[in-house]
Amino acid sequence: MKNFLNKLSEILFPSSLKCVICKSELNNGGYNSICNKCIAEMQLITIPCTTCGDNMQHENIYCLNCKSRKETYFARNRSVFIYENAAKNLVISAKFNGEKYLAQTMSKFMKSCYLDNRYKCELITFVPSGLKRTKERGFNLAKLLADNLSMELNLPLVDTMQRINETHQINKDFKSRQENIKDAFKLLENVDIKNKIVLLVDDVYTTGATMNECSKVLKKAGAKEVFGLTFAHTQKKVINELN
Ligand SMILES: [Zn+2]
Ligand SMILES: [Zn+2]
Repeated sequence: MKNFLNKLSEILFPSSLKCVICKSELNNGGYNSICNKCIAEMQLITIPCTTCGDNMQHENIYCLNCKSRKETYFARNRSVFIYENAAKNLVISAKFNGEKYLAQTMSKFMKSCYLDNRYKCELITFVPSGLKRTKERGFNLAKLLADNLSMELNLPLVDTMQRINETHQINKDFKSRQENIKDAFKLLENVDIKNKIVLLVDDVYTTGATMNECSKVLKKAGAKEVFGLTFAHTQKKVINELN
């Protein structure tokens, strides 16, 4: 009987019983369906680069990556965690293993980050993935996150862009990522975002090339400001230590 009830509650409340990252029992509390051990492994970004939100050693400075960017089209980006350990595992499970329900956990952290940074956006949009990639995975994680945030923050979700060049960004260095992503996005028809403050959502901020290109499209379409929000941020330790 007990076994049956356990099985039943597992079916009814799967994420409330097991840690969504390491799958261990959540009998000692945890937070947002993540156990205390995994939470302890996740590194919150507390001193962000003023522009891109990368994890910094000192306050009120921006990183070399931002310094070297010719033009930045977003007002700033903020990310919740450094893309390492448990935070990285969470993204990988959601994105590559198709565990869509993880988007809910991720967006709860992103909501807190949005509020902590006193963002005041009027609508939410997301980095589109190419049709081929969306078809392969069955979903776009950035869109799922944006969708959850739209409900949590009570802001409209607007589908604004389409990806027109689908070359993979993985395994490309900084420079070729910038080149590869250039003109990769275009505005959808009948999108009206004139004079609006836009929240642009993605799962991971890597070099900022994607966020910058998307922001460029949104600004060209008349957006007043673009604020970025991602779940995680790859840390460019070597670059930042030179700063
Ligand atoms: Zn865990
Ligand atoms: Zn930066």
